[in-house]
Formats: sequence, C-alpha cells, structure tokens
Amino acid sequence: MSNDIRQDLGLRQVINVSGTMTALGASIVVPQAIDAMTRGLSQFFEMTALHKQASKVISDLTGAEAGFVTASCASGITLAVAGAMTGSDLLAIERLPDTGTLKNEVVIPSGHMISFGAPIEQMIRLSGAKVVPVGQATASSAYQLATSINENTAAAVFVISHHVVDYAQIPIATFIQVCHEKGIPVIVDAASEYDLTTVLALGADIVIWSGHKFLGGPTSGIVSGSKDLVRATYLQNRGIGRGMKVGKESIIGVMAAMIAWKTRDHEGIRARERSALNVWSEALANRPGVTATVVPDPTKNPLDRMKVSIDPQAAHISAWDLAMRLAAGDSPIIVRDHEIEHGHFFLDPCNLHPGQEFIVAERLSEELGKAALANDVTETPIEDIWLDREAKILQWPD
Ligand SMILES: *Cc1c(COP(=O)(O)O)cnc(C)c1O
Repeated sequence: MSNDIRQDLGLRQVINVSGTMTALGASIVVPQAIDAMTRGLSQFFEMTALHKQASKVISDLTGAEAGFVTASCASGITLAVAGAMTGSDLLAIERLPDTGTLKNEVVIPSGHMISFGAPIEQMIRLSGAKVVPVGQATASSAYQLATSINENTAAAVFVISHHVVDYAQIPIATFIQVCHEKGIPVIVDAASEYDLTTVLALGADIVIWSGHKFLGGPTSGIVSGSKDLVRATYLQNRGIGRGMKVGKESIIGVMAAMIAWKTRDHEGIRARERSALNVWSEALANRPGVTATVVPDPTKNPLDRMKVSIDPQAAHISAWDLAMRLAAGDSPIIVRDHEIEHGHFFLDPCNLHPGQEFIVAERLSEELGKAALANDVTETPIEDIWLDREAKILQWPD
C-alpha cells in the first residue's frame, strides 16, 4: 500500500493545471470537509433535520431564504426547474416528467445553451419541461426574452460561465427585470463562481453552485433561493430527485466546506497561485515561439491563469501536440485546453498540491526544449485529433 491511492488502483498520478474539472475529480476537498465526512459516515441522521441544518448554512453564506443540497449543479438545475413547475403539489411531483396541465416551458438565451460535459438543455428537459431558446447564439435582447415568455412559461434559466457566448448577451440585471415583470422565476447556474451573494442580491429566485468546485466540498450541488422555490426543489426528492439525492456524507461534507469558506485564507491562496505563475513565467521566458501571459478569469473569479500561446513554426510544435505530450507518461500534466485550436492553452494554478508547480515547469521545459532541438515541426492536424478523441469515447471500458 502506498500513500497515493492512485497507485494502489493502477491509475496514473495526474497533475491538474486545468482547473476545477469534473473529469479530473473536480477539486481538492478541504480538510474540514474530509474530517466532517469521516465523523459522520458511521452515524445515523434524521435526514430531514440534516437538510434543514444545511439550509441554514446555505442561507448564512449566500443570504438566501433557504437552501438545499443535491447531487450536483446539474441535478440542481433539473430539480429547480421541476420545482418551478410543480410548486408544492405532491401529486404533480410524483407525476413528473409528465407535466400534464402544469406550465412547462423554460426560456434560456441561445448563447447560454452550453455543454459542461453534458448539454444544459437536457438538464432542463429531464424534468419534463420544454426548452424555449431566446434569440440567437450570438445575439439575445430584452425584447426577444419578453416575447418568448407566454402563459405556459414556468421559469427562465441564466448561465454564468466561461462557456457562455461572451458578447451580445442579455445582462443578468435586465434578464431578471424582464422575467419578473412577467412573473417568471429566474434560475441561475453559477456552478463555477466564487461569488455567493451578488446574483441573489440582484433578485435571482434560485442560484445553484457546484459544491465540488471552488468550495472544495464533496461532489454535490447547492441550491439557494426563495423559501417557496427551494422547498419545491427539495420536495422533488419524493419524485425525480430520488436518483439525484445525496447521502449524509455529502451533505455534512459540503456544510463543512461552506463553513470553512468563510474563514479560508483567500489572500494566502492568491499568493501561492501567483508564485506558481511566476515559476511558469520563468520556465517559459525566452523560448522561441512561446508567449506566456497572465490573464484574469473571464467571469471575474479572483483567479489568474497563464495563457501559453504557441507559434508552431518557431517552437517546432503545436499547442495541441505539446498538450498531448504533457498528458502522456506516468505523471500526466493536464492543461486547460478548451481553446486549443486557437494555438493556446492555459495553466490553472488553483488545484495544485505544494511543489507541483515545479514539476509542471520542468515538464514544459523538457518538452519545449526537445521540440526546439528537433529538425521537424510537429503539428498533427487538429481535425484528426478530434476524430480520434471521438472514436476513443466509444472504446470504454477497453
Ligand atoms: C461544472 C458546471 C456545471 C455542472 O456542475 P456539476 O455540479 O458537476 O453538475 C454546470 N454548469 C456550469 C456552468 C459548470 O461550470
């Protein structure tokens, strides 16, 4: 037995410079949450009472009237939409996803119809609701939102994320204003946002976060908002929410993570992240074809990343080939590669264990050094890489 459980399981020892990625196990769970879960696992709980206590912790942190813990932000979206349709009608809850005579349309800006690993519109449809896209991917306006709302509209969904089209979208304040003028509740997906209060203060009826992203809790979703809507969301555990429920350990763990958030040393964390960025700046300086710049988070989370842009002719390797080489071997380094076809990737320092920044710097130096000495330019056609990745999806479990 080693200290690193990944070795025992025959798994590679991944270093995560990609961010809070669910595909890599989300985030480093904070010690307070680990301790609370360990203490709770062997006990019994009156789950309704435990959920009430969690509601208080969520209220305290977010300023919402009430809160509810479910399996994930994705489940939170499904259940909040369900709650907006059924209210506290227990029979309607049991009948979902058949919506019968309930209002069942949900409006969402077209530019917000993202995939976070699964399509958000599917999370809405899972409840039985019908998705009504507003405007076009690259243009949505208040008048389009207003005219998309009718007597069948149950709710409106708004997404805050780097995945969302980042121009010509309805601002959140306008979105809430238009919806409220029509009496429609606003459900906000803020899965990956640090800010736990502003959107509720703006008047959003429900805001949902992932417990396992910046908060450093176990896999979970945190639903906050008005008491009536949160209650209606919670009651879905008697229906479609059953398969999305969390166990005691996740509720206890995410409560501890939320309490710890209040006293987290945010400044100290920023300082550690800055020092990792400095280490990488140095490793990448004066390398032909490599431009490293520190860039802020696109949705204004207090987190800077290093953008590494590669000119393949000068560096002798493309950004994606470099990313793939870093991801090979026993200690793979997984970079943030969602814009890789533009010839850049990002290094995200928010999920590093102490000292890993140096391993990342060494591996970058090693691979860039090797490429610089090579006679040829390595630049695999990106379309081949994407088709290859698609083919690999279907090979699991082989
Ligand atoms: C991560 C993410 C989700 C999914 O969160 P889970 O808690 O893993 O279900 C949904 N929306 C956005 C914008 C995300 O970033």
